[in-house]
Amino acid sequence: MLFEQLGLIEPILKAIKAEGYTTPTPIQLKAIPIVLEGKDLLGCAQTGTGKTAAFAIPILQTLYKTKPTVQGYKHIRTLILTPTRELAVQIDESFAAYGKYTGLKHDVIFGGVPQHRQTIALRNGTDVLIATPGRLLDLMNQGYIYLNHLEVFVLDEADRMLDMGFINDIKKVIRELPQQRQTLFFSATMPPNISKLANSLLYNPEKVAI
Ligand code: AMP
Repeated sequence: MLFEQLGLIEPILKAIKAEGYTTPTPIQLKAIPIVLEGKDLLGCAQTGTGKTAAFAIPILQTLYKTKPTVQGYKHIRTLILTPTRELAVQIDESFAAYGKYTGLKHDVIFGGVPQHRQTIALRNGTDVLIATPGRLLDLMNQGYIYLNHLEVFVLDEADRMLDMGFINDIKKVIRELPQQRQTLFFSATMPPNISKLANSLLYNPEKVAI
C-alpha cells in the first residue's frame, strides 16, 4: 500500500515524498482514511509508530479542502494538546513538513518562555495550534485564545497527560470546545481512567490499536 492509494491530494503527496517516506506505517494506513472521513478516532499507539503523521496528514488535507474563502478569518481551526514542550515542537515541525505546499498556518505555544511572541503570532488566528495545557489555559484566561470555532481537536499522549497531573487543565479546555467538532484521542495505554476521559470526548469513535 502506498500513500498514493490513500486518496491524498497532490500538495501533501509532494511533501511526503520530500520527507523520503515511501510507504505508510500501520497506524497511518488505518487512521488516515478514518480521519479523512471526518470521524472521531480512538488511537492506541506509542511514539515512534508514525502516529504524528497519522493525524497531521489527514488534518492538513481536510483543512486545505475546507479553507474558508473569506479573507481575514481569525479563528483557531485545529487544536493539538500535547504534554511537553519537546513533543509540541516535534508536532509543529511535522505540520511544517507535511503542510509546506498547502499554505496552511501552524503555530506552537508552550510555557517557560515569554508569551509575547506567541500572542502576536495568534492575533490573526491559525489553522493549527499545537499547545501544552498550562500555557494554553493561561492565554485563554487572558483572552488571547478562543476555541469557539474549532473544527478538529486532538488529545495526544493522553496517558502521559494524566500522569503529569493535567486532568483538571484538560477538563477546563474541553469545556470551551464547541460540541460540533472532530476529535482524535491518542494514548499508549488505555486504563479505566483514560477510557472514561475518551468516552466523554469522542462521538461514535473508530478504534485503532497497533
Ligand atoms: P512519531 O511516531 O510520529 O513520533 O514518528 C516517528 C518517526 O517516524 C518520525 O521521525 C517520522 O519522521 C518517521 N515517519 C513517520 N511516518 C513515516 C513513514 N511513513 N515512513 C518513514 N518514516 C516515517
